[in-house]
Amino acid sequence: MENKNNSAKDNTMEKIISLCKRRGFIYQGSEIYGGLAGTWDYGPLGVELKNNIQNLWWKRFVTDREDMYGISAAILMNQEVWKSTGHVAGFADPLVEDLKTKKRYRVDHLLEANGVDPKGMSLEDMDNLLKEKKIKSPDGNQLGDARQFNLMLKTHIGAIEDDSSISYLRPETAQGMFVNFKNVVDSFHPKLPFGLAQIGKAFRNEIAPRDFIFRVRELEQMEIEYFVKEENWAENFESLREEMWNYIKDLGINLEKVHELEVGDGDRAHYSKRTIDFEFDFPFGRKELYGLAYRTDFDLKSHATGSKVDLSYFDEEAGARIVPHCIEPSFGVGRTILAVIADAYMEEPAKEEGEEPRVYLKFAPKVAPTVAAVFPLLKNKPELVQKARDVFNSLRKDSVLAGRIAFDDNGNIGKRYRRQDEIGTPFCITVDFDTLGENPENKDTVTVRNRDTGVQERIPLHDLTYLLKDALIA
Ligand code: ATP
Repeated sequence: MENKNNSAKDNTMEKIISLCKRRGFIYQGSEIYGGLAGTWDYGPLGVELKNNIQNLWWKRFVTDREDMYGISAAILMNQEVWKSTGHVAGFADPLVEDLKTKKRYRVDHLLEANGVDPKGMSLEDMDNLLKEKKIKSPDGNQLGDARQFNLMLKTHIGAIEDDSSISYLRPETAQGMFVNFKNVVDSFHPKLPFGLAQIGKAFRNEIAPRDFIFRVRELEQMEIEYFVKEENWAENFESLREEMWNYIKDLGINLEKVHELEVGDGDRAHYSKRTIDFEFDFPFGRKELYGLAYRTDFDLKSHATGSKVDLSYFDEEAGARIVPHCIEPSFGVGRTILAVIADAYMEEPAKEEGEEPRVYLKFAPKVAPTVAAVFPLLKNKPELVQKARDVFNSLRKDSVLAGRIAFDDNGNIGKRYRRQDEIGTPFCITVDFDTLGENPENKDTVTVRNRDTGVQERIPLHDLTYLLKDALIA
């Protein structure tokens, strides 16, 4: 029986963070130096999980479509980019400081913690409420005045540190697409509608990074800027929305934990005419996973004004130049990974007294870092080990399975199953004496154990590749 152990809900995140560290998915950034808040490092299994998640995205949104153009833009951009977009003036979160400890907090988070919904409130309104309600810091101290805090990480490029050398680590990947709009149009002459897509790092000097990889200072995004004629925005918004749901299905996460939130007038960015947030039921609450926004022609117009470069598009049908409108589906990589892991985390109560509960990650085979692990039944029988190695090597030769097959001969079979369960390996393949022909009926067959059901089946060796590849397509 699967069981998420609701009574232990409060420490689910601790268990997930500990499993991620123990099994080599995710480590604290700069850990041996005491860490660096808001940074996390992906270990050998984490990076494979991340690659699978990104590859599924790239396949669905770029390679499987004829209307998408993938790019990879520089993280550092001319500072004028961020002036044109309004980020220099206004990419900020409301901050308040504990006057005693000097610790800084997000005002909206403090209000939420005190039962106030801050949605749609101005900085002034929030500041007034903090004072009216005499809200103290979490350490019980007096708070200062609320102010806006710019989240962009500033740096200087080159040897001279003056205003002209200022640059920012990009706070979103989106602008890389807008500044390359003309390049892609000039090289490929795409017909509207079409999109530019990229996956890459972004940086935000978050006031309070928290909840493991949910809110970090160095993040990764997968974003699309999809250009349309103004009159067609609504139908394209709908089809991208559907594709976002299809991607969520690709990930194999429980759709019941994903919810759309229509963002109200007062809460949308000023340029957006419609925004839907996709929220996920994380162990620490329902929070934003992705966003889908209709950004009108705001971005191309702002960059045309800022750069003094014509960013209009010649619409052959109308025989006129137009500024396309834009729809932006935006996905956080880290939040996707966290949703996938949190949804997959399963605890099965011990069947017998004295046994540990079984912990397993119920990853869809498509995202699982390891698709199958191959074991010899016994470690001390060279003929079993040799045959198991042969099976392992032949599976690894397949270009789709390469890198996603493991070999394990440590400890007994039960321990190996547990290890593979914890890293979410869907199939465990065991080479035993029957495989070698001890029972001629079963010669060249192996047992394949299913992670979720624990059921074992005998499968002919020549069917293994198909079985595993079928699971990856499903
Ligand atoms: P939030 O309200 O949670 O701060 P946001 O609305 O500022 O998020 P966007 O600017 O819309 O986020 O960014 C697009 C996506 O990038 C988000 O949906 C999320 O998946 C991801 N993202 C944004 N900020 C962070 C962060 N600090 N850490 C991890 N992922 C992030």
